[in-house]
Amino acid sequence: MSEKDCIFCKIIDGQIPSYKVYENDLVLAFLDIFPLSYGHTVIIPKKHYYNFLNMPEDDMGSFFKELKKISALIKKKLKIDGFNLVQNNFPAAGQVIPHFHYHIIPRMKGDGPLRMIPGKVQAKEEDLREIIQKIKE
Ligand SMILES: [Zn+2]
Repeated sequence: MSEKDCIFCKIIDGQIPSYKVYENDLVLAFLDIFPLSYGHTVIIPKKHYYNFLNMPEDDMGSFFKELKKISALIKKKLKIDGFNLVQNNFPAAGQVIPHFHYHIIPRMKGDGPLRMIPGKVQAKEEDLREIIQKIKE
């Protein structure tokens, strides 16, 4: 799939709407509309890289700085007990979108081990709006 057809590049361009958690020159973070938990967020670099192996080392430091900042923001604003960072490489590992991304998956006490279950349920728009409101407060 070329960059032109990449769904995440289209989200960056604004061709596809998203619930934005955070944005700057380097990254965009938005809510996953098929969330594994309340506040499940995806963070992507604005430059298109297929996956972890394609991201230049020089870009990694700044990306991880943003990943940390956004994780801390979600932890604080959504008052979660913890979170998983998940990053899949190649279809065999569950990579669906061909644009490097991290999942920030909020967890609460008693949630148990994380299960990445396919065929998830789409989030309600009101919930997504509520989450964005809490983060922006
Ligand atoms: Zn892309």
